[in-house]
Amino acid sequence: MSKKESILRPKGRVKGGARLPHNKTTAEAKTVVIDPPEKVVISMSQHIGAPCQPTVKAGDQVFVGTVIGDSESFISAPIHASVSGVVSEITKIRLPAGNMVDAVVIESDGKMQLDPDIKPITVNTAEELVKAVRDSGLVGLGGAGFPAHVKLTTSPDKPIDTLIINGAECEPYITADYREIMENPDDVLDGVYLIKKLLNIENVIIAVEDNKPKAIKILYEIAADKRDTDDKVKLMKLKSRYPQGAEKVIIYSATKRKLPLGKLPSDVGCIVMNITSVAFISRYLRKGIPLVKKRITVDGNAITEPKNLLVPIGTPISHVLELCKADDPQKVMMGGPMMGITVYDTSLPILKQNNAILAFKGKAAESKPQTDCIRCGRCMRACPMNLTPAPVEGALKNTNVDELNALNVMHCMECGSCAFACPAGRPLTAAMRLAKNEVRKAGK
Ligand code: SF4
Ligand code: SF4
Repeated sequence: MSKKESILRPKGRVKGGARLPHNKTTAEAKTVVIDPPEKVVISMSQHIGAPCQPTVKAGDQVFVGTVIGDSESFISAPIHASVSGVVSEITKIRLPAGNMVDAVVIESDGKMQLDPDIKPITVNTAEELVKAVRDSGLVGLGGAGFPAHVKLTTSPDKPIDTLIINGAECEPYITADYREIMENPDDVLDGVYLIKKLLNIENVIIAVEDNKPKAIKILYEIAADKRDTDDKVKLMKLKSRYPQGAEKVIIYSATKRKLPLGKLPSDVGCIVMNITSVAFISRYLRKGIPLVKKRITVDGNAITEPKNLLVPIGTPISHVLELCKADDPQKVMMGGPMMGITVYDTSLPILKQNNAILAFKGKAAESKPQTDCIRCGRCMRACPMNLTPAPVEGALKNTNVDELNALNVMHCMECGSCAFACPAGRPLTAAMRLAKNEVRKAGK
């Protein structure tokens, strides 16, 4: 069978989801590297897991790539200076999710001088790869922010047979991963085969939505590369239907395996890596520069010049909005319109896992008008996890944790498909999020 014939169809299809307007107007916008801002504010919590403690103090000189925060916890990732300059203060900031965290403020000297200890890194074993990835500060760049070294840590009692490279990027507007594929295909190529080889994973599935023909061409070449001697690296085209890129959904599409509640992909024999993360690993080993910059898509109807920008982590959102000539935005979001979070304070910084800043005005900035539930059932049909979101609001109002558990709220991945489908404008995703918090608080 030729490579071309061996392009995979999804093994399983998750029902539900939403057909969204793609609005990927920045798809052909080459990444613009911005000049360092005068000051960066680097949050000590930029990942799922334990926040870092600052390892520097006011007055310290730092360089690009100097470690400025770390934690002893396994589920955490070190944080590095994204500009060279002087630490002006250690402060506290409230992130858009509401949590107060430490932050290191660095006044940039404008030179972007690399830390003198930075050098290429050689890895020959899985353990060396995991250590290097931890040192790099990499967290899942698709938006979730799960420390990448944790994902890559395998154990003999949980054999991994499939590495899924997630290039779906199914949220509207966002083209950050797409630009990675278009601009750095060699990094993607090297990253794919390096992880496959060092972790000794038999199968690789590179998943991408079928609305990205140019990326498909490049990824097909990667799957067909001469390094794939036994034809175990495949391309899988997914229907462009939100949320194809969600971890549980993509695992099911690639392997027909269901990820049980509270389990990691490794429990079902898979590792799922975002495609930009894979390319970053290759670059990191080659150059030794940790995760200090992030590509973000800046778009929305309040943005006069939509762009893909490569920005130092910690750059204020207001600076990014200014660079793209935001015109009186009434709503600013970090992330996509479905899973992103509204930002009320644009002095807050860009985080490692941010992939978009969207700014809206007029009707696009308004929430849907709310009426009572009309029991149409559309939210149920839209839910890829087979949940019944409509009664959750009532159970939440009565803090009926048993009922919330019976409604399986903990299975919700907060994809927003139910709220998008609801003709009554019910805030179902927000209700799901709160419901999960109630269940967690009750320890059930
Ligand atoms: S209930 Fe959760 S998983 Fe289901 S559609 Fe709504 S947000 Fe998505
Ligand atoms: S989609 Fe909205 S109106 Fe329809 S049942 Fe669900 S909550 Fe009610």
